[in-house]
Amino acid sequence: MVLAQLGGSISRAIQQMSNATIIDEKVLNDCLNEITRALLQSDVQFKLVRDMQTNIKKIVNLDDLAAGHNKRKIIQQAIFNELCKMLDPGKPSFTPKKGKTSVVMFVGLQGSGKTTTCTKYAYYHQKKGWKPALVCADTFRAGAFDQLKQNATKAKIPFYGSYMESDPVKIAVEGVERFKKENCDLIIVDTSGRHKQEAALFEEMRQVSEATKPDLVLFVMDSSIGQAAFDQAQAFKQSVAVGAVIVTKMDGHAKGGGALSAVAATKSPVIFIGTGEHMDEFEVFDVKPFVSRLLGMGDWSGFMDKIHEVVPMDQQPELLQKLSEGNFTLRIMYEQFQNILKMGPIGQVFSMLPGFSAELMPKGREKESQAKIKRYMTMMDSMTNEELDSSNPKLMNESRIMRIARGSGRQVREVMEMLEEYKRLAKIWSKMKGLKIPKKGEMSALSRNMNA
Ligand code: GDP
Repeated sequence: MVLAQLGGSISRAIQQMSNATIIDEKVLNDCLNEITRALLQSDVQFKLVRDMQTNIKKIVNLDDLAAGHNKRKIIQQAIFNELCKMLDPGKPSFTPKKGKTSVVMFVGLQGSGKTTTCTKYAYYHQKKGWKPALVCADTFRAGAFDQLKQNATKAKIPFYGSYMESDPVKIAVEGVERFKKENCDLIIVDTSGRHKQEAALFEEMRQVSEATKPDLVLFVMDSSIGQAAFDQAQAFKQSVAVGAVIVTKMDGHAKGGGALSAVAATKSPVIFIGTGEHMDEFEVFDVKPFVSRLLGMGDWSGFMDKIHEVVPMDQQPELLQKLSEGNFTLRIMYEQFQNILKMGPIGQVFSMLPGFSAELMPKGREKESQAKIKRYMTMMDSMTNEELDSSNPKLMNESRIMRIARGSGRQVREVMEMLEEYKRLAKIWSKMKGLKIPKKGEMSALSRNMNA
């Protein structure tokens, strides 16, 4: 089950529960069982899921639900908190400081994306003014040095390695020494990929670690690894002091649950995620926005940042004003669709926005989503100004819908679908009503507000 599906399943379970007239223990249990199933299908470790279920039952007070408080919100908040707890081990990892030499050692299974991620990590810091360097201590895999060399050259990052030397410890030490002398502030050591059964390779990894004394050991994990994640991550943690996790291939059809399991096994936070093969497809990982997105609650802080980044400057104040009035019209939807189409890789940007993520734009199906948006816009082109500017969907009676369908050459069913989409978004966006219009820098306050 890919992450978007996981989020969808959880949201549906909550929705079903909040539709029930009376919330009793059975209804709550049904909802939690549904969520448990979704998490297990996403490869979250069984024990974690069971603990989560127990905790939610402890937190959620049935009397509160029965009293008609906002049931959906109470349950959603409890699940949100539990998922955040799973992903947040409670202690931050070591953070290298610019200008002060740090050694970061990368470990992980073969094929997890380690070498690619080393370069992404170096490149990310280089763009921020660091002086990174790469050391290839992978003498096991033929071609490893070439790969690192190629990546490093492309990113103009100094590198060290050898075609002749077969002792990874020696190479690692030489590389680290050399780059320390050159005043690099981030020395990244790539090691061979290994599997938990390969005792000799684990011993070698331990020796590299002992010899280079890394400030941080980063465990790189492929998000599609599934249920094996927990055991593998634990095996690494037992040999070297893993301090943080990077989850790769989050762009694929991966079951993301392994990430939760890896955090639990290493008691270390996920600090970055890889979202593609290219050097800049790499994102800082923050627990709360991630879980918000997963649950379809939207990443409001990311959303506001994106409004600043993506919506043309002259349109921003008006859009924010309209949003704060809770006034989401079809015209606003139209204008935002225009912005989405102009932006390029729409999935990336809009997966952040509340409501736009899983349903309108499933990841990996950006082309289809784009076609759908264009279709919706054609239909909206057949609407009158009054219809576009009204936030009252009742205006759309049967004859209007038929006329719009005829005018745009689409089916009545499609117009209805577009209007449903509008209503869904309007409902989500109406949460902005009454909010102070945030300026840049005030985003986190807004985010807290929306997630509360
Ligand atoms: P290593 O054996 O762990 O060093 O793995 P590599 O760095 O050689 O990566 C294995 C494959 O995964 C390569 O084809 C990479 O391009 C690919 N890869 C790495 N990270 C990502 C990612 O975030 N997304 C995708 N789609 N592919 C990735």
